[in-house]
Amino acid sequence: MPVWSELSWPRIEECAERGCVVVIPIGVIEQHGHHLPLDTDAFIAQEIARAAAKRDPEILVGPTVPFGFTPSNKNFPGSISLTAATWSALIREIVRSVARHGFTRIALFNGHGGQVSLSRAVVSALQDEEGIRVVVLNWFGLVDKDMGRLFADEKMPGGRVGHAGAVETSMNLHLRGELASQGSLVTHLGPQMPDFVRKVGGYVQTPREDLSPSGVMGAPNLASAEKGGELFGLCVERLCAFAREYRDSE
Ligand SMILES: [Zn+2]
Repeated sequence: MPVWSELSWPRIEECAERGCVVVIPIGVIEQHGHHLPLDTDAFIAQEIARAAAKRDPEILVGPTVPFGFTPSNKNFPGSISLTAATWSALIREIVRSVARHGFTRIALFNGHGGQVSLSRAVVSALQDEEGIRVVVLNWFGLVDKDMGRLFADEKMPGGRVGHAGAVETSMNLHLRGELASQGSLVTHLGPQMPDFVRKVGGYVQTPREDLSPSGVMGAPNLASAEKGGELFGLCVERLCAFAREYRDSE
């Protein structure tokens, strides 16, 4: 299981020469309700990437980037939010370093719903301004339909992952059950945005605490380690398939 930070430099060089795909897990440190650890988004992405690399030695797991962009959760104790400018610069400089060492297949593997748009803007700028091609993908994008099947009973309004709901709680129960039940499992299925904005498909930045005092979006009581295990397995399989196709691509 090649993990960037555990290798010596000649082994990194070897990986670059072999054309390994570098998968860089990116997440955030932010509140995840009363019951889940703050690093949930980074940890899930990292564990999927590491399991994929265990199966396929041509995947090199880049250093996990735990820091992210989370203005909506920043007021909850423990959350650490970088500004958009700082986060963009951080990601660009990491990717630039990876590319400097000769890697041409680089993917950002995101676990945080709140930086989907920003990460796309960053990879667009890397391509446009520096000629560095990077793919960005989200772990939950690998299993969109499966989440709908496994968590149909959660009835999440708009978006199936939610936040600290059944999906993320199940993943934590599967990966590290001992840290997945630190407090009460609060269910909150309200809207993620004021109604007049949601109705027109618009977007407005809203402090999470105004919508959900616990910070949860979803129904964590519907989680199970079994569902998490199934979802995790599918993510690993599909990340491996993606890496194979990326390696074979022009
Ligand atoms: Zn999360």
